[in-house]
Amino acid sequence: MANVSIRELAIDFGTVSVLKSLNIEIQSGEFIVLLGPSGCGKSTLLNAIAGLTDISSGQIWIGDRNVTWEEPKDRGIGMVFQSYALYPTMTVEGNLSFGLRIAGMNKDEIAKRVDRAVQILQIDPLRKRRPGELSGGQRQRVAIGRALVRDVDVFLFDEPLSNLDAKLRTELRVELKRLHAGLGSTMIYVTHDQIEALTLADRIAVMSGGVIQQFAAPKEIYRRPVNRFVAGFVGSPS
Ligand code: ADP
Ligand code: MG
Repeated sequence: MANVSIRELAIDFGTVSVLKSLNIEIQSGEFIVLLGPSGCGKSTLLNAIAGLTDISSGQIWIGDRNVTWEEPKDRGIGMVFQSYALYPTMTVEGNLSFGLRIAGMNKDEIAKRVDRAVQILQIDPLRKRRPGELSGGQRQRVAIGRALVRDVDVFLFDEPLSNLDAKLRTELRVELKRLHAGLGSTMIYVTHDQIEALTLADRIAVMSGGVIQQFAAPKEIYRRPVNRFVAGFVGSPS
């Protein structure tokens, strides 16, 4: 668990300003959804927190550490992408343990963590399968498992359910909520889907054009949108 503090974060790609002096304070253990239309800078913000993109100015703090210039692997975060990014030739177990083996963790500890992750994500029967033998939902569980075994403080999700069909999306949403309740980790979840935001978030940050327009509890955003953009974007949760 850790709070995440984004301070005056700006990111330019060439002459294009993608994030504009953005500030956001995320409490330890909160489930935050970054909601906004395609191209508004959600992935860029998430990548910046993960250390996967160069920033132009500003700071990123996780807990009491200024991680702005820390390596991604040192930040205590785990990231789950829309596409699964699993190692196709490794089994589920192999995919879950790979990073820990690279980091030099001892075998017993690795086994313990993998066991725990497959229990939590209910993929125990799939341990010996390879990604090609899994459904989309199962692959995404494995992808979440890879963050889980690392015992991270902060989970980052970039539209993790958008490749799945509607029924599976609903199922995994419920599981993510359960996971969050069980772990109490800080979770930052990117989507352009209002329903997803509404059902998952403790607080929603509505973004457009590299700026956070409103950051509040779902109810507050729907009842009292601060401007026309927010009203229009969340307006009809039909
Ligand atoms: P979102 O995730 O909200 O759809 P992104 O963060 O991916 O948006 O992108 C925000 C804007 O930045 C878009 O206009 C996109 O084209 C631009 N962009 C993203 N990555 C790069 C890059 N590496 N180089 C140049 N422009 C980029
Ligand atoms: Mg994106």
